[in-house]
Amino acid sequence: MSAGNNKWLVVRRGVILTPSIEPVIVELDGYFEAVQLIAYVTDGLRTRKDQIELIRRKALRHSLQNIYLDLETANLEQIVAAGKQNQPYWQILWSQLLSIGELINPPEPAIAEFDYIHPKRGHIPAGHLVGVSPHFKGTSFDVGGGKDGISQEVAVLEGAIERVHGLLDITPEPMNNAIHCDCRLVT
Ligand SMILES: [Zn+2]
Repeated sequence: MSAGNNKWLVVRRGVILTPSIEPVIVELDGYFEAVQLIAYVTDGLRTRKDQIELIRRKALRHSLQNIYLDLETANLEQIVAAGKQNQPYWQILWSQLLSIGELINPPEPAIAEFDYIHPKRGHIPAGHLVGVSPHFKGTSFDVGGGKDGISQEVAVLEGAIERVHGLLDITPEPMNNAIHCDCRLVT
């Protein structure tokens, strides 16, 4: 079975599927059909470069180009002087995004320069080491919300956790109008 045949939980063009997430997406189609709700898989496997470009897009969305004037075109892998030590450009932007409540993983394990609030774990002090996105491992995908937000999609997915083989947990991300879904490979 291929997720390309899904009629209700439709995979957006360009999303890269993996053996861990595709069977879950296939099985979820029936759950969305049961409530006659069409939804979209908006993200799957991601590369380091994808993650850095995602940081750029989110920084632009938060108008950080007013502070980092070359944000739109700069090489974000370059090392720049900031805070206590030199850091890659993406790391500074990423720390800023966390501090304003835009939760995103770094492209490699990295220290967050500022305090931030985690939706599940609360206040996280500056200097915290944050790991990479599970999207890098190919064990996660995202479902987008509709014009009315994510509540309908959350209800469907919550009802499917541990009933759909391999679907471990979901994390609603209202700020992204998406739901992050963590899976494991079922063999
Ligand atoms: Zn995600």
